Order: sequence, then C-alpha cells, then structure tokens
Amino acid sequence: MKYILRFSLLFLTVLFVACNTKQTGTAIEQTAESIFPKGEKITNNNFSGTVYLKMMGASDTALHTSFGNVTFERKARTNWHSHPGGQILFITEGKGYYQAKGEPARLLRKGDVVEIPRNVVHWHGAAPDSAFAHLAISLNTDEGGAVWSGPVTDEEYAQAIKFEK
Ligand code: MN
Repeated sequence: MKYILRFSLLFLTVLFVACNTKQTGTAIEQTAESIFPKGEKITNNNFSGTVYLKMMGASDTALHTSFGNVTFERKARTNWHSHPGGQILFITEGKGYYQAKGEPARLLRKGDVVEIPRNVVHWHGAAPDSAFAHLAISLNTDEGGAVWSGPVTDEEYAQAIKFEK
C-alpha cells in the first residue's frame, strides 16, 4: 500500500511538472533552431513587460545603420517612440502588432515586414497570447536615435488589438 501511495505521488509530481512545462510554451526560448541570438533582458524603462535584445554588428558604422534581434514575451511592448531616420522590422517568430499613432494596429506574423517612416510615432510588441520576435533595422542613425515618449497603457493596448485576435 505504501509503495502504491509513493508511486502515485511520484506519478502526480511528474504529471504536474509536465503540464506546467507545457504552459510556458508560449515564450520564445533560445533553441538550436533559433536563427539569431536572444541576447539579454532589457532593463531600461522604454519597454513594458519582458523584452530581450541582441544588438548585432558594429555600434559605430559608416553605414549609419544599427540592427538587432528583439524578443518580446506575451503582452510585452515598446513605449510610444519614433525614429528620426526611419526603421524596418522583419518578423521572425510569433504574433504581434505594429501601431502608428492615430491608425489601426496591424497584426504581424513570421515573415511580415514593416517599414516605419521617419518621425512617425508608433509602438511594436507581442500579442496577449503569443511571444513575438523581430529584427529591427534602424536607418540614418547619424540623424539621431529613437525618441521615446510614454508607455502604451493597458487601455491603449486593449483598444488597439480588440479587432484582431
Ligand atoms: Mn520602432
């Protein structure tokens, strides 16, 4: 009887761990199949939620371009911001959104490309039910880096994505 009880407890523990492991499947893990490195967790206040960044290439370049891999966990997003020299996003994993201020949000999936014109105030980030990753290429960086505004509030986020699930 004692052994049956012990075995049952072991079985339940294994089942519990297996189920919980499955629930975390929405986060994008760095795997052998990942094309680009995930990098380190962003600790500045220009983002909401958990976001990872891996800058790639030289930080000071004659090409006036900087580029990196950005990975957002579910619901994570940038603050409102603009780029004096413009920016291009290449979506590599998951599901997320891009929204220019005053316009409807655009649903984004792997393979989508977003061209962000100079000085357009916008945000980009993950969907509520999916992690999200994109390459971000900032252009004409000699004209200045990103100009940051306030956070995308929970109300603004909910409003932006309510028509797209
Ligand atoms: Mn941007």
